Amino acid sequence: MAKKRVAIYSLTCCAGCQLEVLDNPELLDMLEHIEIVKFPIAIGRNEPGPYDIVFIEGMVTTPAEIEIVKKVRKSAKYLIAIGACATYGGVPTIRNMLPQREAESIVYGKETDHISSIKPAGVSEYVKTDYLIHGCPINKEEFSIAVKALLAGKLPRAHTHSVCVECKAKGNRCLFWEQICMGPVSIAGCGATCPSNGLACYSCRGPKEDANVEEFVMLAKKQGHSDAEIKGLLGKFACTARQYKRYLECLE
Ligand code: SF4
Ligand code: SF4
Ligand code: SF4
Repeated sequence: MAKKRVAIYSLTCCAGCQLEVLDNPELLDMLEHIEIVKFPIAIGRNEPGPYDIVFIEGMVTTPAEIEIVKKVRKSAKYLIAIGACATYGGVPTIRNMLPQREAESIVYGKETDHISSIKPAGVSEYVKTDYLIHGCPINKEEFSIAVKALLAGKLPRAHTHSVCVECKAKGNRCLFWEQICMGPVSIAGCGATCPSNGLACYSCRGPKEDANVEEFVMLAKKQGHSDAEIKGLLGKFACTARQYKRYLECLE
């Protein structure tokens, strides 16, 4: 059977998710079934589509990148967004809480007419994505599972439970009341990495589908956190996620 043509695209980001792909010990085995025809961090090949699978990291933050994602969508059978930047816009979406001009002038000074950036957003804001692999960076095993499923012509099964479920399964002591922990609203799949190491979850994977953000905000307020602090939590990685956006808009 012919190998599947796979491309890795990279938009504005730190390239950390691409690095996780490269550092995946299962990558060599995968190469028996896939041919990577574009992988900016690893190989000099840069072949145009059509592709069987495109993994895309990074956020859309310029008009040129909107055109790239539209073109990539047309040439990909499966388009998979990888990492917080590509799924929800990632850390840079913090700037979306300020008016565009104000955010630009903080970084570039008063003269911003030469700046062609737009509000950072995930790839799904512009084109249909077939699946999202969450995290900052992504989890290697989740990437491997996704490749295997796609090679079998299926989409991987999405997680539906919260980080708390994985945390409880590990028998961790709950950190919710001593550090504000976003595990209850965050989508599982990381194995509760942070709480397992004594740190509160800060939702780098974004919200689970039916996250009860209202309850989370209420409990955070009860703990004495200000609206600004709660906005900082909800907006840190997944500012554009539907479940968080609503609250980011109505908190002071
Ligand atoms: S999701 Fe995180 S690790 Fe991945 S590219 Fe964005 S900033 Fe880098
Ligand atoms: S520490 Fe966080 S993730 Fe773990 S059970 Fe408590 S709230 Fe949930
Ligand atoms: S525990 Fe939370 S912040 Fe840590 S890796 Fe998992 S989703 Fe991300």
